[in-house]
Amino acid sequence: MNKTQLKKIKKTILKKETLVFDQLVKKQKEESFKFCENYKDFLNQSKTERKAAGQIVQAAEAEGFVDINTLATKKSKTIKKVYKVFQGRCVALAILGKHGLVTGANIIASHIDSPRLDLKQNPVYEDLSMGLMKTHYYGGIRKYHWLAVPLALHGTIIKANNETIDITIGEDPEDPVFTVTDLLPHLAGKTQADKKISDVFEGEKLNLIAGSLPLGSDEEKGRFKLGVLNLLNKNYGIVEEDFVSAEIEAVPAEKARDIGFDRSMIGSYGQDDRVCAYTSLKAILNTRSPDRTAIALFFDKEEIGSEGSSGAKSNFLEDFMSDLLFIGGENTDNRALRKALINSSCLSADVNAAMDPDFKEVHEAMNAAKLGFGICMTKFTGVGGKSGSSDASAEFVGKIRQIFNKNNIVWQTGELGKIDQGGGGTVAKFLAKFGMNVLDCGPAILSMHSPFEVSSKADVYMTYLGYKAFYSDND
Ligand code: MN
Ligand code: MN
Repeated sequence: MNKTQLKKIKKTILKKETLVFDQLVKKQKEESFKFCENYKDFLNQSKTERKAAGQIVQAAEAEGFVDINTLATKKSKTIKKVYKVFQGRCVALAILGKHGLVTGANIIASHIDSPRLDLKQNPVYEDLSMGLMKTHYYGGIRKYHWLAVPLALHGTIIKANNETIDITIGEDPEDPVFTVTDLLPHLAGKTQADKKISDVFEGEKLNLIAGSLPLGSDEEKGRFKLGVLNLLNKNYGIVEEDFVSAEIEAVPAEKARDIGFDRSMIGSYGQDDRVCAYTSLKAILNTRSPDRTAIALFFDKEEIGSEGSSGAKSNFLEDFMSDLLFIGGENTDNRALRKALINSSCLSADVNAAMDPDFKEVHEAMNAAKLGFGICMTKFTGVGGKSGSSDASAEFVGKIRQIFNKNNIVWQTGELGKIDQGGGGTVAKFLAKFGMNVLDCGPAILSMHSPFEVSSKADVYMTYLGYKAFYSDND
């Protein structure tokens, strides 16, 4: 066999991996960077699930989507683009297809909640002449990430008279911020050095500094706590008991930034999973009259196991699909709903872990995703032998692979770490329970669940193009 023949055989039978930036021509590269400018704005405006839901609804309304709840009493043959927002924290968008919904929809499901520190229900106290606030972390965090960094507060408070107060403090450069203190290295030795990392950082020590001006003279007991509560009362009209019916989240106060001399990457809090929320949002907003109904789901509560009425384990999708059958003038009985669900195809839109140059040992290099190599298909997630994963079928992975290849989408595959190293899950299995085909599909990122997650602009753009191709697929 000569060299030319060998080269030809290699080219034909070996699997290729493509760096997205090798494939994009200059104009497309510019487009990908432009796309990410708006993505960074979205991240900055969407630091909580409620804020993200608000941004999604605003963008949908601007493109002519109509609140489906306003259509529930009458059928409308002309309205094709609808949305539903539930509890202000979970959203669904749909474009009715030419075919009946009973033949199934193309669904992309992401989540808009991210790990953070929630204020406790009785948060405010004082110690050493400072006002402080107790937190309870939400989702999987490395606790030391949250020490000695500026934090902003976002929240919704329901007062005793049922009035709703929304607060955002720390996002405007003029705003004050909050912080959790850390131990100085000089004194950390005996206290921390010989302990296990899980023992060094305690959840109960993630307390926010909230003030140091007292109210009243030094004879007054509790005057630093009182100082904090008095300001909250003056500025927002709230009293201590109002924290009981409040959701206040401390999140990194920093804005999304470009990373690298070449600005090819993005660093930001909350990219898991608002990167998939944003790219699927743009994909559905740019989809025109699809054959199959296109649905984008934006769930809450994924980071704590998709529990709760706004999470993927709830009946939100069934309720939305029932409404879609109704406004589309289709049969709305239980059988029709079940068929609509089981005939649907779904991309579970979530991030995977890109191989980290400093922690290669937790990955199996042949099957790990890499930054810059396109949208990542993750056939299965789970822990210890795929446990807890819905494991997509060969047929469905095959179908998505064909759609991506047909549309020049640069894709790769990934696993979440080495076998027996650890693992995790997504919303995939909660959609697969309806019998629909589901595949995890999204960009791979570095520093997942940290306050400064890293994505590649090329991957973000490719994810958008991949999702758009999926919605436009007509088979
Ligand atoms: Mn996620
Ligand atoms: Mn996550």
